[in-house]
Amino acid sequence: MAQLTIGVLNGDDIGHEIVPAAVEVTCAAAARHGLAIDWRPMPIGRAALDSHGTTMPEGTLGTLATFDGFILGPIGHQAYPKGPGAINPHPILRKHFDLFANVRPTRSYPDIGCIYDDVDLVIVRENNEGFQPDRNVVMGSGEFRPNDDLTISVRVISRNGSRKVARAALEIARSRRKRLTLVHKNTVFKLGCGMFVESCYEAAKEYPDVTVDEVIVDTFAMRLVRDPQSFDTVVTTNMFGDILTDEAAGLVGGLGMAPGLCIGEGGLAMAQATHGSAPDIAGKGVANPYAMIESTRMLIEHLGRVRSLPQAVEVARTTEAAIRSALSDPETRTRDIRGTTGTRGMTDAIIRAIG
Ligand code: ATP
Repeated sequence: MAQLTIGVLNGDDIGHEIVPAAVEVTCAAAARHGLAIDWRPMPIGRAALDSHGTTMPEGTLGTLATFDGFILGPIGHQAYPKGPGAINPHPILRKHFDLFANVRPTRSYPDIGCIYDDVDLVIVRENNEGFQPDRNVVMGSGEFRPNDDLTISVRVISRNGSRKVARAALEIARSRRKRLTLVHKNTVFKLGCGMFVESCYEAAKEYPDVTVDEVIVDTFAMRLVRDPQSFDTVVTTNMFGDILTDEAAGLVGGLGMAPGLCIGEGGLAMAQATHGSAPDIAGKGVANPYAMIESTRMLIEHLGRVRSLPQAVEVARTTEAAIRSALSDPETRTRDIRGTTGTRGMTDAIIRAIG
């Protein structure tokens, strides 16, 4: 009897290499700790368009709702041929399951080309509102053009959405160094960022043990480069978070080192790396599998906590140590992080380290 049922959606391009790597690694750790996982592969993206005529086949949402969580590989929707079935699935998945918090850690590892040796921070990005026009409205688009000379982009901020993401960030801060930084620009967006900040402070009243401070987004962008060690947990709105998490990845070896987990109020969560589908390196066996493996590890750890499964927490712990071991040797890490091997070599090294 499976203790966890997890959907596997490869996504596009390097997704077909790094998602299977993440499953293999997790299988090895699960076998070691006696955790039974039922993996359920499902079509999504370009492959689904070819086989089912749509990038998100009918029934996908209903089936995923019966699972504990799922892995979504990177989606290369920019390259989809134009047509009614060619939609970008990830905003729909985030919205449908109300996965309002995108948890994106940034951590340095020795000798892989990090700018600093001691970065350990988490940016929690609001996932379903903000400026992103394909997800901040339920119909139509948050961007429109009344005439050929004018475009209007709408930014959505709600008290409820802001409070929810703040609570998720406060929970994470509580489990870490008990410090939360709000990143915003309420000096200019007095109403939008103003509401976000007010809602965060309101949520923080329930977390008196967490110290909350705030930094204006442009100052934060500069301080993130100069002294990233001064931050622990950060919460911000959708687009600021999108940009800042790529900047943070640049500090610790690049996009291959940028994992993420999308969570909501229920247990169901989606492992989704920060990076895109990297078509330039797809099929070459060189993609760094770290971000996808670590995102999956975060999913297992999260499910271990919310489903009270100590074996899952152990699986996550073992995987973390094995990843660290593979990253410590140039021969068992990929070239983008000063290594000499490819996706297969790094994946095998992590599995060997699991034992
Ligand atoms: P999106 O807008 O969909 O997030 P993007 O513009 O951020 O995509 P990516 O596809 O994420 O672009 O990648 C940018 C470049 O970073 C890639 O072309 C690739 O060279 C590199 N890259 C991204 N992910 C990885 C990875 N896992 N391993 C190695 N290199 C990567």
